[in-house]
Amino acid sequence: MKILVTGGAGYVGSHAVKALVAAGHEVWVYDNLSRGHQAAVPPGRLIVGELADRNHLAAVMRTRKIDAVMHFAALAYVGESVEKPELYYRNNVVGTLVLLEAMRAADVSQIVFSSTTATYGVPQRVPTPEDEPQRPVNPYGFTKFVIERVLDDYAQAHGLAFAALRYFNAAGCSADGTLGEDHDPETHLIPITLQVALGQRPQITIFGDDWPTPDGTCVRDYVHVDDLAAAHAAALAHLRPGRGLKLNLGTGRGHSVREVVEACRKATGHVIPCQVGPRRPGDPPMLVADASAAKRILGWSPRFVMIESIVETAWRWHKAHPRGYSS
Ligand code: UDP
Repeated sequence: MKILVTGGAGYVGSHAVKALVAAGHEVWVYDNLSRGHQAAVPPGRLIVGELADRNHLAAVMRTRKIDAVMHFAALAYVGESVEKPELYYRNNVVGTLVLLEAMRAADVSQIVFSSTTATYGVPQRVPTPEDEPQRPVNPYGFTKFVIERVLDDYAQAHGLAFAALRYFNAAGCSADGTLGEDHDPETHLIPITLQVALGQRPQITIFGDDWPTPDGTCVRDYVHVDDLAAAHAAALAHLRPGRGLKLNLGTGRGHSVREVVEACRKATGHVIPCQVGPRRPGDPPMLVADASAAKRILGWSPRFVMIESIVETAWRWHKAHPRGYSS
């Protein structure tokens, strides 16, 4: 297929591009490089453009004869979304509406959308299945929830075929060491902990150790970014006109912050000084996927299930790229 990947220069998007190319698809990346990296895109495949530019998007899709869109372009920091909701509603909601209108103008009716566990808010059931009520607790989660509803309505009204893939915690770097995780600022637990191992930060602050979890620190389901990429590629074959697939992507295993830090200590061989700080507002105590539907429907199961092996892939990249893609 000919696939346009918005946000294909970003963390999960770039790994998906790699998987799609490996599967034999013709891939074009559409990215404004505001948070992505040119170095993460295969040579000659990058189209620099804004999601808000409907005419440019439609022209790109027409001239490249695009069959399907994979939509990763979005802002994805929970904290920033609380401080600057206007940015999130404009980029994630308005931007996606523009993309959907450009797709209609160019007669493209298939999309795979990056959704998130943040659409559940604080789930009552852990592991969480897809029919858990979605009650997002921050603007980021709400923007993704809104778009899931928009996709439902487009499927109904316009015959759109879509898959909304709800990731748990994307983690790790491409197994072959070619692609990595490079956010500015970095806020995610694994890369921050590895930066401590590299001597770039003095210590890690654990956001609360008085949560109702086995060791008092938050539990998350860390799923390898190559596995997420594989699920996106698999979802393409399951798109049907007028229908939407909504699937969790996770390993089904939860790891506490302390367990992740310990996995980083083992992978790096470095001492990781820790201090306990206050809870981070908006953090649910436990997020673990029930990903049985993705297995049943897509035939997908993660290849990386051990947190140690996920962290090892991240460490390989961070050690080789201490300043991210610019090193
Ligand atoms: N976390 C932490 N210290 C940090 C960064 C993260 O204790 O410096 C915790 C955070 O509270 C959460 C987990 O690590 O429970 C994963 O956080 P991350 O930001 O990586 O992903 P999120 O779960 O917010 O999507």
